[in-house]
Amino acid sequence: MAWDFSTEPDFQEKLEWMRAFVREEIWPIETVAHELDQPALDRIYAPLQEQVKRRGLWAAHLPPDLGGQGFGQVKLGLMHEILGTSPFAPNAFGNQAPDSGNSEVLALAGSEEQKERWLHPLLAGDLKSAFSMTEPENAGSDPTQLRTRAERDGDGWVINGHKWFSTNGSIADFLIVMAVTDPEARAHQRASMFIVPADTPGVRIVRDVATMEHPYESFGKLGNHAEIRYEDVRLGPEALLGEVGAGFLIAQQRLGPGRIHHCMRWLGVSRRAFDMLCERATYREAQGSVLADKQTVQNWIADSAAQMQAARLMTLHAAWRMDTEGAGAARTDISLIKFYGAQVLHDVIDRALQIHGSLGYSTDMPLEAMYRYARAARFYDGPDEVHRQSVARQILRGYQPPADGVPSEHVPTRRDDARRRFAAILEAVTAND
Ligand SMILES: Cc1cc2nc3c(=O)[nH]c(=O)nc-3n(C[C@H](O)[C@H](O)[C@H](O)COP(=O)(O)OP(=O)(O)OC[C@H]3O[C@@H](n4cnc5c(N)ncnc54)[C@H](O)[C@@H]3O)c2cc1C
Repeated sequence: MAWDFSTEPDFQEKLEWMRAFVREEIWPIETVAHELDQPALDRIYAPLQEQVKRRGLWAAHLPPDLGGQGFGQVKLGLMHEILGTSPFAPNAFGNQAPDSGNSEVLALAGSEEQKERWLHPLLAGDLKSAFSMTEPENAGSDPTQLRTRAERDGDGWVINGHKWFSTNGSIADFLIVMAVTDPEARAHQRASMFIVPADTPGVRIVRDVATMEHPYESFGKLGNHAEIRYEDVRLGPEALLGEVGAGFLIAQQRLGPGRIHHCMRWLGVSRRAFDMLCERATYREAQGSVLADKQTVQNWIADSAAQMQAARLMTLHAAWRMDTEGAGAARTDISLIKFYGAQVLHDVIDRALQIHGSLGYSTDMPLEAMYRYARAARFYDGPDEVHRQSVARQILRGYQPPADGVPSEHVPTRRDDARRRFAAILEAVTAND
């Protein structure tokens, strides 16, 4: 019977180090990041990244033969819970999105030459990457609608298309682009992935899209989301990543672990908001007592604690399943945590903001920024609706309509059956009356 919720002592020690490091070295960056350009930010990161490498915690998502630590999803999940407390932390640990997912794609589908040219420098932190799939004209939640085309050009390819929300696209050295290679193929075999160096003629970064999280236009900063036009982008045969038509298959393998990491990061954010909620409750007074004495606030604290615990256990369980049974077996668990975790994130931040009143709404606290960040969690990497649909479909496969159209639990029908079964005993009891 193996059912163990404990953490090995030496890994627990690593987690404690990460917790202190992120709090003391990374959280301060948040307050001045908007005053710095990317090269200045890179200068701040360089010594921090060195410390992480010395501790053996760099690029922990990849196996040791690729320069990573081979942690597996459970350990990674626990690590991301700590890194998630700040949007600036993953970059210090070499596992920031989208580089972490892209390095997994390269490790999974890349040739030796592609690994040499793109993966190793990406892992060393010498290159930056983007993942370019979503298109403004088509529903990103249904990628079979992709229209960006990659057509044969001699032994190479030429790409034409329009993408947006390619995170880090404006600072990337290369982009992994999803494009249709055979529009006549079956829906999930139409697209392929390509490695596109950002300086290839025809790659036009139109702008970084201002968003709810970053409402003011800026260009060329970590975490921005680029709109990109690919105009007659000519590539050699070495640009194709994996097999022709394998784009969806590779994307699916990339998204599974990525979603677990997102969910654990959200727990880190939720925990930080929760700490603010509880701290505020202890000293803010209204109508004769501190807020901690009000039952509504007590309900918020208890409900948040329960939701976070549920989300944490669900997420770690999905991670464990992925480690022990593989990504396919964990699919429904991952969909469950994706929409449930996004809701918990929203609810906890919302309560923490509410208890701070105007202070919570102001930029004097990080809560309003967390709230804006949290909103996107309900639709990126698959909207809530699609994950709920997928969970329900999976569950419904285990059910059949009753043969006679009567619900299996219909009490009068069951009673009739029971009467027949226990007829002798029932008759004896009635006779004794
Ligand atoms: C912060 C952030 C970072 C991102 N980073 C990247 C990136 O690096 N690379 C990249 O390619 N993309 C990226 N994206 C884009 C993201 O993947 C898409 O936004 C997402 O896939 C949803 O696609 P869409 O925006 O086109 O919405 P749509 O597909 O148009 O969906 C809109 C809404 O329609 C509803 N809906 C959709 N399907 C169903 C259904 N089956 N049932 C009921 N309702 C449904 C849902 O309410 C959904 O929210 C990012 C987005 C954000 C916000």
